[in-house]
Amino acid sequence: MNNNRRSTICTTCGTKFPQDEPVPDLCPICNDDRQFINLNGQSWTSSKALEKDHTVKIRKINDRLYHLTIKPDFAIGQRAFLLLSPGGNILWDCIPLLDDATKAFISEQGGLKAIAFSHPHFYSNMNEWAEEFDCPIYIHANDIPWIFNAGQHLQLWSGGEKLLWDDIKLVHVGGHFPGSSMLHISGLSAGGAMLCGDSLYISRSLHHTAVMFSYPNSIPLPKEDFATFYEKCSKLKFDTLYGATFEGQDLEGNAYEIFINSMNRYKNIYGL
Ligand SMILES: [Zn+2]
Ligand SMILES: [Zn+2]
Repeated sequence: MNNNRRSTICTTCGTKFPQDEPVPDLCPICNDDRQFINLNGQSWTSSKALEKDHTVKIRKINDRLYHLTIKPDFAIGQRAFLLLSPGGNILWDCIPLLDDATKAFISEQGGLKAIAFSHPHFYSNMNEWAEEFDCPIYIHANDIPWIFNAGQHLQLWSGGEKLLWDDIKLVHVGGHFPGSSMLHISGLSAGGAMLCGDSLYISRSLHHTAVMFSYPNSIPLPKEDFATFYEKCSKLKFDTLYGATFEGQDLEGNAYEIFINSMNRYKNIYGL
């Protein structure tokens, strides 16, 4: 049997391709200007192999929010968020490892009512999570071309917003991907909080936010895409942002001000 039929997780981005089909020669998520193919060549791993030498670290951010990361770091070092809410818990984005300890932890918190995604760099093994917790997966319909492993739990949404429950909503902002979205949670902080995926990159200094077509390849957004993104994002009410790619990428209390200051630099450069 071709080993690739079982090793279907791209080691560079963590996307899991269908188990019952041969994997592509190159991962289409990585073979895109936003990402990159590993310089040592395309390689794949399996859930079993990953579980053997990696674990999931769960950290409490506040009473309603936890983040989940894989240790040692795997793929793009993405983090997922578990949001606890009376109307039902939400997993925001995914990490490509779902081990028994993580299943037990989430079950103790009441399981999941939904999994929702910011954009295709985080789809990973989303179907396994959805099957385990028997919940829908919400993905913006603009990103259909990047769904390579659609399962029975997938529920596409479209338009500018999708209200979930407890004043939590998915907000489409575009930019990084045509379907790039954020999760807006009014009650998570005094002024509103957003889980922003890669729609906004929060800098290491925690003093700036960036918006790019590609972060690893440093490719800016076209002017029109930036203008649309800015128009949508600046209208949102938030004082807190949680980013997607490293631990501590948290702006609490002053996020809107940092966002506006950072976006003013872009507006100056774009002549807007
Ligand atoms: Zn990949
Ligand atoms: Zn991304």
